[in-house]
Parts: sequence; C-alpha cells; structure tokens
Amino acid sequence: MVPLLVATRNIHKTEEIASILGEGYNVSDLTAFAEAPDVEETGCTFLENAELKALAISSMTRSLVLADDSGLEVDALGGRPGVYSARYAGPEAKDSENNAKLLSELEGVVKDGRTARFRCVMVLAEDGEILEEFSGSVEGRILEKPRGDAGFGYDPLFVPMGECESFAELGSQIKNGLSHRARAMEEVSVWLRHRNSGVTGAPTGKA
Ligand code: IMP
Repeated sequence: MVPLLVATRNIHKTEEIASILGEGYNVSDLTAFAEAPDVEETGCTFLENAELKALAISSMTRSLVLADDSGLEVDALGGRPGVYSARYAGPEAKDSENNAKLLSELEGVVKDGRTARFRCVMVLAEDGEILEEFSGSVEGRILEKPRGDAGFGYDPLFVPMGECESFAELGSQIKNGLSHRARAMEEVSVWLRHRNSGVTGAPTGKA
C-alpha cells in the first residue's frame, strides 16, 4: 500500500480522494496529524495555495503529500468567490452562510447568466519539494435555492452541465465521476501509477 497524506482536515475531501484512488493507497489526512500547522491560504490563485500547503506539510513528514485548493468561480461575479470560496461570508463562515451570500449576490440574475465552474488544483510533494501539479474543473450553473442534502460547500446550489439535479441531489457516486476534484485526481492517479510501476519520466500534470 502506498501511503498518501492529504493536506486537509476536511474529511469530505479525503473520502472523495480515497474513493477515486481506490485500492493500493493508504490515504490519511491531517485529522490524524495534530502537530501539523494550519497553513494560511495567502495565495492569489488555487495553485499558489495548493503549493503553500504541499510544501509546508511535506517538509514535516516523510510521506508523499497531496495538497489541493479548490473553489467556485461564478461568471456573473467576475469569478468570485474563487480562492475565497470557504470564507466568502467571513473567516469562520458556515456552508449555509456562504450559500446565502452567493444567492443574495446573484439576486435578479436569470438562469442563463448563472454559469459557474468548480475548479481544483492539486500538488504532489515529497521531502519539501514539489513533484507535480494537476488541475480539473467542471462547468455548471447556480440554482436559485439550495436543493439536496449530500456533499458539502456549494453542492446544493451547483448543477453540473448536462444534469438537472444539484451535486447535493446527485450524491457522491455520481459527483465523484464528474467533479473538478475527480478530474484532477484522475491525472494524479495516472501519474502515481507510472511512478509506482518504476516507469521513468512520469507523465506531466496539467496545472
Ligand atoms: P479549500 O478547502 O480551501 O479548497 O476550500 C474550498 C471551498 O470551496 C470549500 O470550503 C467549499 O466552499 C468550496 N468547494 C470546493 N470544492 C467543492 C465541492 O466539491 N463542492 C462544494 N463546494 C466546494
């Protein structure tokens, strides 16, 4: 089993990543690593934030580290909340408060104008050095009110393109087949398979 430490305390993310990678990986996260610092997301881009987390955590452990940064970009809001997705309604904002703020900012915007995407950047690092960077995104639109109970964050408000239900209605199995995180993870998974099979020159990521 390949040990992989995910640089997050969000167990929803860890579960999604473990489920996408499947067998052969022993996936853990920072919930079992009390001494790991809370790395401040001071970057201006998803890539900068993922790199900050990957470098900080991988310099404290011998494990392979996977860090991600992700968020929602809404076209009618010029790409906001973007890197501020987790703290859109304030530093300690709950998902419900972020969702309420998003809905109020989009008041009066008609269905065709509510286009958005989730974006995810992932960085693999080891011994304080970046190995590779990857990215994935999923296009969709923002509903006028929350629907569904599954998932986290903006899932109840986001309908992926080609579907009629929100991520929170579709549930984890369908979401994990088409989410931004799933798409970035597919690239990570291919890269790790090459590396672990001893093939030299693992494929380049796509961040
Ligand atoms: P991060 O932990 O800094 O990557 O924060 C990402 C934030 O973006 C989360 O707290 C959510 O608000 C939002 N987000 C990222 N991925 C998802 C997703 O798959 N579903 C819903 N919200 C997400």
